[in-house]
Amino acid sequence: METLQNVVDQMLPNVIQSETGFLVDGDYGSNAVDVAVTDTGLECQCFVAQVSNGECEHVRIVRDHLASNPMPDDKPAITQADADYYLSKVSELDEVLAANTESATKQIDRIKLWLEVEMDKLVRRKDYYTLALDNYMHLNEFSTKHLVNGTLKVRTQQPEIKVTDEEKVLTDKRFVRIVPEKRAIDKAALRKYCTQTGEEVPGTEIILKPHKFSYKLDGSAQ
Ligand SMILES: [Zn+2]
Repeated sequence: METLQNVVDQMLPNVIQSETGFLVDGDYGSNAVDVAVTDTGLECQCFVAQVSNGECEHVRIVRDHLASNPMPDDKPAITQADADYYLSKVSELDEVLAANTESATKQIDRIKLWLEVEMDKLVRRKDYYTLALDNYMHLNEFSTKHLVNGTLKVRTQQPEIKVTDEEKVLTDKRFVRIVPEKRAIDKAALRKYCTQTGEEVPGTEIILKPHKFSYKLDGSAQ
């Protein structure tokens, strides 16, 4: 008699291939494992692989998969049931990603608050010292002073000229210069011409982009 487990096992694809490796479905209920393809061969990050010189059930499953599918360039057959299953996996992973992000954000907020409070205290203390040193330089009219622990310097600064009414300043010819007409690329016109004609205008390069895949999960807020 077929148990539910058997039915599930038959339904679920064991190995999904990508350009960088293979995703191996674990036992029912456990997480799928990523087996990467590297220069040295198949590499799994699981615990068993780490303690047994890279040998584990996931690597063996991928080897079996490759042995029984000798032409990896063939497009794999993906059924609607597969697609449904994959989308449910994406949904699960999205939930974990969201939970991780929320948890990390909380920790980061706490750390930021701690740092802010600590910095505030220290900066206030530091300000007392720097103000006293500034006064010391000022009262003695020093511009540079070498001390045991370092050197103090005072530099006079150029005043900032802020224009508050541009029109008024422009009426005074002494402060007006003519800026030559600026030439710039009309990107919209260029795009329209290139996409319509397929022609690479001298000085341009047309870079084709792959199509963009997206998904929306039922019941998600987005
Ligand atoms: Zn493994």
